[in-house]
Amino acid sequence: MSDDTDLATRKMQFLYALRSKGVTDKRVLGAMEEIDRGPFVRGLFSERAYEDMPLPIACGQTISQPSVVGLMTQALNVSPRDKVLEIGTGSGYQAAILAKLARRVYTIDRHRRLVREARAIFEELNLHTITAITSDGSFGLPDQAPFDRIIVTAAAEDPPGPLLGQLKEGGIMVLPVGQSDTVQSLIRVHKTATGLEYDELRDVRFVPLLEGLGKD
Ligand code: SAH
Repeated sequence: MSDDTDLATRKMQFLYALRSKGVTDKRVLGAMEEIDRGPFVRGLFSERAYEDMPLPIACGQTISQPSVVGLMTQALNVSPRDKVLEIGTGSGYQAAILAKLARRVYTIDRHRRLVREARAIFEELNLHTITAITSDGSFGLPDQAPFDRIIVTAAAEDPPGPLLGQLKEGGIMVLPVGQSDTVQSLIRVHKTATGLEYDELRDVRFVPLLEGLGKD
């Protein structure tokens, strides 16, 4: 089998794995077909970009498992008019998928290096609707608030108050909550006129949401 055929097969299996794990939304599948995970996984592990596994990236962080990215994106129910905030840029993969579905994406990471590398990929892929920022995402992005959708890709014990505050009425936030090294729950928060409604989606495992900026 030539390398090209091999790659095409792996990409097909990648999409098949997403569907079999419950990613059924056509727009989400379309965005994940369009955004190649390859460039977001560098170095040693790039061979495994099309496997449904989390993989190590720089700064001791991880690029999430594709089926979890798909399920979170699906739960977020993004519309083309939405302004979305992501906490935890990491490789930039999740933000790139969101950019295919939303009007505007802001993504924050506490590691300068991850933000710099993600920006370079966004540039290469002509994803000009994403703004990547280095800061402590627990405080959100007051300048651009409120947001239609907020997604957090690192686990906190509880949903950070400032993020709940920056969610629009009618908005949705999806995030993992729980102790960092035990089982965490992926939850969805709806902000309604009368308050917040929570539902639990599944068990997950994410790196922890940490305070302050990273060293690099
Ligand atoms: N969404 C990413 C995966 C994120 S891994 C992707 O698609 O690749 C979680 C990321 O959250 C890490 O990069 C980590 O640096 C970041 N993070 C942890 N605590 C944070 C905080 N308080 N503010 C911003 N980013 C944070």
